[in-house]
Amino acid sequence: MKTLFVENLVEKVGEVVELFGWIDSKRDHKKIVFVDLRDRTGTVQVVGGEDFKDLSEEDVVWIKGEIKERPEKLVNSKIKTGSIEVEAKEMKILNKTKALPLPVTTDGREIDEEVRLKYRYLDIRRPRMYKNLALRSKFIELIRQHLFGQGFLEIETPILSETTPEGARDFIVPSRLQPGKFYALPQSPQQYKQLLMVGGVEKYFQIARCFRDEDPRADRAYGEFTQLDLEMSFVEREDVMNLVEAMIIAVYEKLNIPIKETPFPVFTYDEAVKKFGADKFDMRTPEEKKKNIQAFAWVIDFPFFEKTDTGGWTFTHNPFSAPLPKFMGDLLEKKNIDKILTSQYDLVCNGYEVGGGSIRNHTPEGLKSVFEIMGLSQEEINLKFGHMIEALSYGAPPHGGIAPGLDRLLTCITGEPSLREVIAYPMTSGGRTSVMKAPSIVKDEKLTELGIKLRSTQSANEDKLTVLERIVKMLEQNKVEYRRIDHREVMTSQEASDARGTKLEEGAKALVMVAEKKPIMVVLPAHLKADTKLLKETLGVKDLRMATPDEVKQITKVGIGAVPPFGNLFNIPLYVDKKFEENEKMSFNAGSHTVSVEMRYKDFLKLVNPTLANFSK
Ligand code: ASP
Repeated sequence: MKTLFVENLVEKVGEVVELFGWIDSKRDHKKIVFVDLRDRTGTVQVVGGEDFKDLSEEDVVWIKGEIKERPEKLVNSKIKTGSIEVEAKEMKILNKTKALPLPVTTDGREIDEEVRLKYRYLDIRRPRMYKNLALRSKFIELIRQHLFGQGFLEIETPILSETTPEGARDFIVPSRLQPGKFYALPQSPQQYKQLLMVGGVEKYFQIARCFRDEDPRADRAYGEFTQLDLEMSFVEREDVMNLVEAMIIAVYEKLNIPIKETPFPVFTYDEAVKKFGADKFDMRTPEEKKKNIQAFAWVIDFPFFEKTDTGGWTFTHNPFSAPLPKFMGDLLEKKNIDKILTSQYDLVCNGYEVGGGSIRNHTPEGLKSVFEIMGLSQEEINLKFGHMIEALSYGAPPHGGIAPGLDRLLTCITGEPSLREVIAYPMTSGGRTSVMKAPSIVKDEKLTELGIKLRSTQSANEDKLTVLERIVKMLEQNKVEYRRIDHREVMTSQEASDARGTKLEEGAKALVMVAEKKPIMVVLPAHLKADTKLLKETLGVKDLRMATPDEVKQITKVGIGAVPPFGNLFNIPLYVDKKFEENEKMSFNAGSHTVSVEMRYKDFLKLVNPTLANFSK
């Protein structure tokens, strides 16, 4: 067993030690060969003989050698082991490596994320990733320590379960034993943790995995995330807020992470909106941002309900919340609904909502009233929440809780740009798992066993095709004349037309934009720019922005620069600039940075039937 890590070698000068690790780098000086040996704690220089010539970077080795002090001139103050080196006596290659598909000694930010996630097991070798994972582990350890110290129990709740409303779509899992029925993966342990309170547990927490099938957003991790879920009995709003605040302060202090202001400032929802224009906000000065100081605040007194598109009511945060005590009467009488404030408290940090919770409705009448206001029929209430209402009628204690998001807190602490940097195996922005290729197609026999028949096998097969294959299929099926051009990798319209040998103005620039939260595609000749003002007028929308690179990937399955002008392939509305009429031909990257298609503009119009408008300048 390995007993010695590289970081501990400085204390072993004069000793002969056994080391295990990877070859980080190699410098061949004829008779002697220097390598840097790497393990998870760092690197150390090893001096070897002729046998070291066979080594390649990333080979796994065992080395026996003596720790020597380096002559003063050769001390490298940049690394922890810079004052020593290992004089190898024996060496064994435990596993020879093939050339890696991506570098692992850089910080990795220069590498395409899809590649990093495909080879996540290699990506994790990079010290930055290891550091993030180690911090995550320490963070959870300190949270556990703190909560155990406060008398909490850590309890697991089911993953295969029934839907619980947190305002997102459920992931569902078919049941084999009861064909035609489905489990839902929990959007949160909300109901189970409340039921633990009914069970007399009094203080519960869990490092809980939650699943929400939300449309991917840049500031979310798609699919699953981890929250510190907790619930307590016999508490008021301030008790839960104080407990979490004290925990954060204690944990951050141990990790040496500075917090801007304690106690955390508290804003009502109205104050926050007035002061910051939103209910999540960043209170740091540019200087504090640079120092990565964490600025926490609480937001309270949110409206309980908001109007739905159809004129009914829905909850703003959590249907299981109690209103503030003075609004209980109104809730039970279902009057002044727009004025009812919830006991919800949101924790904000550095511009993000990093958690939220509330005091719950612990009486059956209160919870029932919420669902009635939302327009659920008695049958629906009984079917979906009968168990909760019943449980609350058997002596449920007053209780409340909260669930800070661990991924988000860690992203803020590390200053990383994305949640995916603090998760070992995150999904791609398009919802594919790291390394393995889920979601994947299942065999027909499996579906039969589950009693499932796909509505259209064609659409399932269609998903297997690449965007390029789908384009080719569409062109062939419609007997459109086209020319396929294979070329070097291109990223911009100019590069593309150069590589294709076509005119810039014939290039179709396909932009994915988001108009009032809905994705659209806007296509214009590559030499022109979209006039956003004109576009907004044409579309009749107030809010219009470019989709983020993540969103483009998610919607079109291809990266920026490879998006073809076929909104229809991605089921999004397509707007084409009228100035295209000036050209006979059009050409575009066909879902690939190295393959283009050239076709007649007239054929394009017939094929996709877009909305034509003027919006370029
Ligand atoms: N269930 C809530 C959530 O996941 C948190 C809570 O109210 O405890 O956001």
